[in-house]
Amino acid sequence: MAHTLLLATRNKGKIEEFRRILEAVAPGAINLIGLEEFPELHDVVEDGSTFEENALKKAREMSLATGLPAIADDSGLCVDALNGDPGIYSARWAGNHGDDAANTAKVLEQLTNINDEDRGAHFTCVAALYLPDGRSHCEEARFEGWILHEPVGDRGFGYDPIFRPNGLDISSAQMSAEDKDAISHRGKSLRSIAPHVITLLNSLG
Ligand code: IMP
Repeated sequence: MAHTLLLATRNKGKIEEFRRILEAVAPGAINLIGLEEFPELHDVVEDGSTFEENALKKAREMSLATGLPAIADDSGLCVDALNGDPGIYSARWAGNHGDDAANTAKVLEQLTNINDEDRGAHFTCVAALYLPDGRSHCEEARFEGWILHEPVGDRGFGYDPIFRPNGLDISSAQMSAEDKDAISHRGKSLRSIAPHVITLLNSLG
């Protein structure tokens, strides 16, 4: 029988992406559901000091609230010249949560006098699994590149228009979803955690 696994997000795109990855690793083994099945649950306060702490907190709280194994991710942009900022503050770097245009403008402004060779950056994503019996597992992955001088492209979200992946001459906002998933921090961390999810869920019997 398929195991039910809760993905701690209300983002349909993330649910579809992880469903595709799990299906490729173990067809039919997991019934993945999202938080839309639990409208009464409040968002988890992301007050950890690392991506891992935040991802694990989201997975743990949602698992304990529902009694289901739960998986969550936390991600952000780390800019070398800003000592790793905005990092865990990526979603609210300019003040308002999820204001992509303001966040992007703030990073560009902070890098005004920084030359190309010092504009290195990476996205990081930690995927975390928490089981109701207290066991957990995390996987971290990076997407390396550098920060452009102005936004380019209208796909993706967040900082994609100002991020140029290493080895490519387009921004991540000019990539198709499939091409980005294949090399992105989120795609890599989800593909890394998928076999651990299957093993740990199978150990539940
Ligand atoms: P969260 O992990 O969904 O909380 O995302 C944190 C924030 O990091 C987002 O709001 C974006 O600003 C940024 N971010 C994470 N991943 C990406 C990405 O793939 N492209 C662009 N921005 C991203």
